Amino acid sequence: MDNIRRDILAHTKRILIKVGSAVLTGEDGLDLKIIDGLVRDMSGLVRNGYSVVLVTSGAIVSGKHRMNITGKLKSMPEKQAAAAIGQGRLMRVYSKSFEKNGLYVAQILLTLSDVTDRQRYLNIRNTLSTLMEWGAIPIINENDTVAVDEIKFGENDNLAAMIANLIEADLFINLTSIDGLYDCNPAVSKKARLIPVVSEFSEEIEAAATDETSSAGTGGMKSKIQAAKKVTAIGIPCIIAPGKKKKVLTGIIAGKEIGTLFLPMADRLNSKKYWIAFALRPRGRLVLDDGAKKALLEKGKSLLPSGIIDVEGNFGLGDPVSCVGRDGALLAKGLVNFSSEELNKIKGLKTNQICQVLGHKDYDEVIHRDNLAITKQNYKSKTQ
Ligand code: GLU
Repeated sequence: MDNIRRDILAHTKRILIKVGSAVLTGEDGLDLKIIDGLVRDMSGLVRNGYSVVLVTSGAIVSGKHRMNITGKLKSMPEKQAAAAIGQGRLMRVYSKSFEKNGLYVAQILLTLSDVTDRQRYLNIRNTLSTLMEWGAIPIINENDTVAVDEIKFGENDNLAAMIANLIEADLFINLTSIDGLYDCNPAVSKKARLIPVVSEFSEEIEAAATDETSSAGTGGMKSKIQAAKKVTAIGIPCIIAPGKKKKVLTGIIAGKEIGTLFLPMADRLNSKKYWIAFALRPRGRLVLDDGAKKALLEKGKSLLPSGIIDVEGNFGLGDPVSCVGRDGALLAKGLVNFSSEELNKIKGLKTNQICQVLGHKDYDEVIHRDNLAITKQNYKSKTQ
């Protein structure tokens, strides 16, 4: 075992495991043998003192099978209806399987709006930590019945990344239908090589991940990489590994070189800043001058009105906004102390002019440092 793996595993106690639909499905809808094997594997970890939280897909696939539907479901209501049928079965299968191993399960269905609301986010956190204290296994899926378009996580990879942050996981294991991340698509090229460790999200790594998905899952490797980026940005290592491999979890925890390990980035975002950076959708954009950019990125300062060149969007006090440089590149995300209307009046001004212009001044800073998540150093995606 290499030193890095050994070091990561020595500090691992709480594990977020995500299982994709492609792992869980067989000819006959849900693959009960695979699920039984994974559950035995997870139960072994719990017996050895690890806390396990599971994010699982498979509801839609299972519901589809129940209704004897072959081919793709086209409309959102069809997918939602299939999920409503399949989710019950999915839980029954897990529940039965975990009980054989002496463990109880808890079902948690979430939508994106549940985690973007800070109070609900904290409520979920309290529930999960109580379940973990009780030694029950939280089994989480997206609440597909109510989640459409803008409230959808997109896919369970994203949901799992949010939950990894929420429970402050020490390790995020993303189980999928292939062995890990390859340097090119293994379905297309025989020369494809598995990348054992990723220490930086370089252009090559981005290019290695394609959008293609199996017929069962929604995410593809690209969304797995996005999820790995999100968790490694707050210091949580991630392993993308083959979910159908026998005793894959036991093997990983024993330090076997399985899958692709994504190393945590050096600088960590705390849980609140992660929430700002990744759970919230910006309501507007502030374009910053070079002085403000430097103050934020290099000096750890708050954002003041003087550094703002332009204000885009309509937002109110407390809303999330993104901060970009003159070139439009994302620098940070944060919660604003002024509305867009107010900011349009005070942009470029000195702090001591705020009161004069607005007639009041509750804050000196447009975004206080505590509510500002610098994303540039941690998160090099071109898509953000
Ligand atoms: N929530 C969906 C399901 O359980 C799956 C979403 C995904 O595959 O990422 O069927």
